[in-house]
Amino acid sequence: MANIAIVGAGVIGVSCAAFLQRDGHSVTIYDPEPPGEGCSFGNAGSIGPGSVVPLSTPGIVRQAASWLTDPDSPLWIDWRYLPRALPWLARFIAAGTRPRVDAVAKALRALHADSFKHYQSLLGVDAGSLLHVSGQLYLYESEAAFVKDALGRELRAALGIRSEILEPDEIREMEPSLGPRFTKAVYLPDAGHCSNPHRLVAAIAEGVAREGGRFVRAALKDFEREGEKVRAVVTEAGPMPCDLVVIAAGAWSGRLAKRLGLSIPLESMRGYHVMLPMPTPGPTRPIYPLAAKIMMTPMDEGLRIAGTAEIAGLDAPMNERRAAVLGRLAKRYFPSLTGEPVSTWMGHRPATPDSLPVIGPSPRHSNVVLAFGHGQTGLIGGSTTGLLIADIIARRRPIIDPSPYRADRFQSVRRH
Ligand SMILES: Cc1cc2nc3c(=O)[nH]c(=O)nc-3n(C[C@H](O)[C@H](O)[C@H](O)COP(=O)(O)OP(=O)(O)OC[C@H]3O[C@@H](n4cnc5c(N)ncnc54)[C@H](O)[C@@H]3O)c2cc1C
Repeated sequence: MANIAIVGAGVIGVSCAAFLQRDGHSVTIYDPEPPGEGCSFGNAGSIGPGSVVPLSTPGIVRQAASWLTDPDSPLWIDWRYLPRALPWLARFIAAGTRPRVDAVAKALRALHADSFKHYQSLLGVDAGSLLHVSGQLYLYESEAAFVKDALGRELRAALGIRSEILEPDEIREMEPSLGPRFTKAVYLPDAGHCSNPHRLVAAIAEGVAREGGRFVRAALKDFEREGEKVRAVVTEAGPMPCDLVVIAAGAWSGRLAKRLGLSIPLESMRGYHVMLPMPTPGPTRPIYPLAAKIMMTPMDEGLRIAGTAEIAGLDAPMNERRAAVLGRLAKRYFPSLTGEPVSTWMGHRPATPDSLPVIGPSPRHSNVVLAFGHGQTGLIGGSTTGLLIADIIARRRPIIDPSPYRADRFQSVRRH
């Protein structure tokens, strides 16, 4: 059995570690931070097996152009960073063709369909308090907004994802905490949420440690190579020999891949959350008003309002204004919400241009496996990614077809 170095202790890294241990491998996870302190810390907790709509869709350019003139809109690009982001943005726009969107939706469906089941297997007794198949509500404030979102409904229907359309009185009956703004909703009964995404990662990590996995609090700086193979990972403490490396360092993975000579388009799609005291009455499931593109989720510690996409790179400081918008928006939707945010947070979504992660062997190395780029759905895709990585390393029949997530697909994205 192999001595495997896993870079990154987010939801992807720990899920990979746990499933690799089941195959008898010895795992060491490198991260300068404790498990789950990166993007996995503060996501919206949405676990939607039917979350299949990529970010880039036909019409994205027109939509984005209208957002970019408003600093409070769902998308913001820091103009100083724009020249660096341009190649990624060009690929992002190119990925929005209908045939590509259909293919991406199918691949996201495969990765997300059994998310709950595989987390239950990882979490054991902790699953009951962390995972909730509560359903999700997608909400519209006008008939025009509902019509505009036809693509989402079409993609979900084509993939057999169950949903119901609700009228205003049915919305109020289901979520009495919501104000009367909404004219229509789509209810997704098989979706739900995690009420503490940080604790979910910590619980999986504790399981890995109990089974003998090692956590090294150090950043990976480089790799020692011999031909096509990595012999050792290099941290501040020096080289650590390994048989195989899994790169699962979220938005920072592009920089690490570059050290191996791999150029994979990965951008930080920065997002924010604010935590508010839970209103009374409060929502019982994730609430997603589509116009605002924010998810409002009941969590162990209050109501989390999460969302917005900001392109400003990995190094720019947090933009407090983007966080403040979230609290203001939430008050429009929940009349009983009065308190001020008790905390704010920013995280780096690891975003590929086509909204699909990179999962699979490095095209250039015989013992490097890539597991990053899960964008806005890394919590949903984490558990199945761990299982798929274990299958790929074991060279057994994989749980799902891994070909859509191959690292070398980006050439073809360009041709569409
Ligand atoms: C506002 C917001 C809301 C979101 N909502 C949802 C949601 O509802 N549902 C969903 O599925 N997804 C959601 N996401 C996305 C999801 O959180 C991410 O896709 C997921 O957390 C990515 O996990 P990861 O393990 O790849 O990355 P991370 O959690 O960022 O982990 C990467 C780790 O790598 C470490 N690292 C970096 N560099 C190095 C190095 N050189 N050496 C060693 N370690 C290193 C970091 O310290 C970090 O701990 C949301 C994201 C945001 C920002």
